[in-house]
Amino acid sequence: MVATERFEQLIAFLSSHLPEPVEQQGDGTGGIVFTGGSPGEVIAYLTDSIVEIGEFGVRWENPGTPVVKARRVGVLNWRRLPETALMNAIASLIKGAREMRLARYRTCRYCGTANPPEWLQSDDVCLTCADTELGTVH
Ligand SMILES: [Zn+2]
Repeated sequence: MVATERFEQLIAFLSSHLPEPVEQQGDGTGGIVFTGGSPGEVIAYLTDSIVEIGEFGVRWENPGTPVVKARRVGVLNWRRLPETALMNAIASLIKGAREMRLARYRTCRYCGTANPPEWLQSDDVCLTCADTELGTVH
């Protein structure tokens, strides 16, 4: 009963502390995957015993097929921690994961937009500009 309440509390906490917008998805076994940010910045995975926080990442399986890959930064056994310590730890991990993710963004030299690594053709050219600006280069 108490554990169920804390589980609900964790859902609410993650929903309000992850970068907006937050998407929730069940994993089919009672766990919930939260993705915060668009493009994604932080991923959280909640089960009935752990909370896992990871930096959002994408790997291209083949062109056009991005696969989300979280770089895990921390796992907490939430039943073993008192509420305040737990919430503080989760908030710190979210903050850290988000900082790492944003540090990977690079500004495109053509359009001036900051892009995550998976949207970059090279260190300073985004995929869109690589098509339009560099598409004719042989
Ligand atoms: Zn660009």
